Amino acid sequence: MAEHGAIFDAMLQEFDGAARLLKLDPGIWRILTHPRRQVVVSCPVQMDNGEIEVFTGYRVQYNITLGPAKGGIRYHPNVSLDEVTALAAWMTWKCAVAHVPFGGAKGGIICDPTKMSRRELEALTRRYVAEIVDLIGPEKDVPAPDVNTNDQIMAWVMDTYSMHVGHTETAVVTGKPVEMGGSLGRREATGRGVMVVTREAAAHLGLNPDTLTIAVQGFGNVGSVSAHLLSQTGAKVVAVTDWKGGVYNKAGLDIDRMLAYAAEHKTIDGFPGGEPLSNDDLFGLDVDVLIPAALENQITAENAPRIRAKILAEGANGPTTPEAQKILHARGVFVVPDILANSGGVTTSYFEWVQDRYGYFWTEAEVNQRLDQKMREAFAAVLATSVKYTTDLRTAAYIVAISRVAAVTKLRGMYA
Ligand code: GLU
Repeated sequence: MAEHGAIFDAMLQEFDGAARLLKLDPGIWRILTHPRRQVVVSCPVQMDNGEIEVFTGYRVQYNITLGPAKGGIRYHPNVSLDEVTALAAWMTWKCAVAHVPFGGAKGGIICDPTKMSRRELEALTRRYVAEIVDLIGPEKDVPAPDVNTNDQIMAWVMDTYSMHVGHTETAVVTGKPVEMGGSLGRREATGRGVMVVTREAAAHLGLNPDTLTIAVQGFGNVGSVSAHLLSQTGAKVVAVTDWKGGVYNKAGLDIDRMLAYAAEHKTIDGFPGGEPLSNDDLFGLDVDVLIPAALENQITAENAPRIRAKILAEGANGPTTPEAQKILHARGVFVVPDILANSGGVTTSYFEWVQDRYGYFWTEAEVNQRLDQKMREAFAAVLATSVKYTTDLRTAAYIVAISRVAAVTKLRGMYA
């Protein structure tokens, strides 16, 4: 592999730990630690001030053994090829753990969407899709939302692709608006999945799932929905932080009001229902569950020793560094790893893709019930594997994923 950095290295460390326990065949090991395809594109966009800017975009298809490549597109100033490659690998293991017939991919564009107009974002999205149009498709690679992208952006992805191929193709992308082939329940699916595994983990540890105390980092699509659904189960969400600030209330925050506040102010900072709280202080709170639902590398060797939560449910991708993972393990924190905890999003993306290809749509209750079942099955398979191999849930999740991808790699054989 040409170039890789710290985030891909972190993925590799996790992979290697599981591959060793599995006694993985060295040839398969080599294949599964290399991305299948990495594409870099330049996207010129005429900005509102008349000037032309060129944005760098990536699409990495890490593995397509189990089916079409699958994974979101993120818009962020810190996007890099290293990050997108690691995220594409995590998508591969996530889809395998979730037991959906997809490989793994990820896309990203280096940009700051908070400083761009709607017209600029549309132009950038369409140009990016035009540059990768030969790579994607319902049978090839199916994008979805990720950090700073949403259903409107997915609508532009679908339209641009459809214009190029000459007919409407809804199944090229998931996380679309419901009016145009999106699935009911998709927007909430990642947070709903986090809620389900948090409750499973609590029950496993002998805690009452209906009376948990919870702290959440991030109030985007994953953090806000996790907080909302968990608060509806009776759990007390006592703390939330986001990119700007945070709020703490020992008696529990009113998440409905917080959602309305965030919609208006684009942050929860200044929310009147509690006292201000720093991101750093969030990690040291005495709560049952901590849910990191922001970006990578938030839980580090520096703050991991202060974490007092019994359960860490990783809503974000890659929130815990390998050093921090060791510290949490030694301290007995029950970590539900990202590739399991946040797999509800891609699981419902799979449901969306199935519905689009079928041309027949399910009720929201059906979607949620199927998601609930898939999440419980995935949790049970990972837990059973952790018992069998006497290992933590992250290593167990990798063992489940690698075994599934390796088995099919062997069955398909080498095409030379
Ligand atoms: N971006 C989400 C993730 O990281 C969803 C990906 C998808 O639905 O394809 O899992």
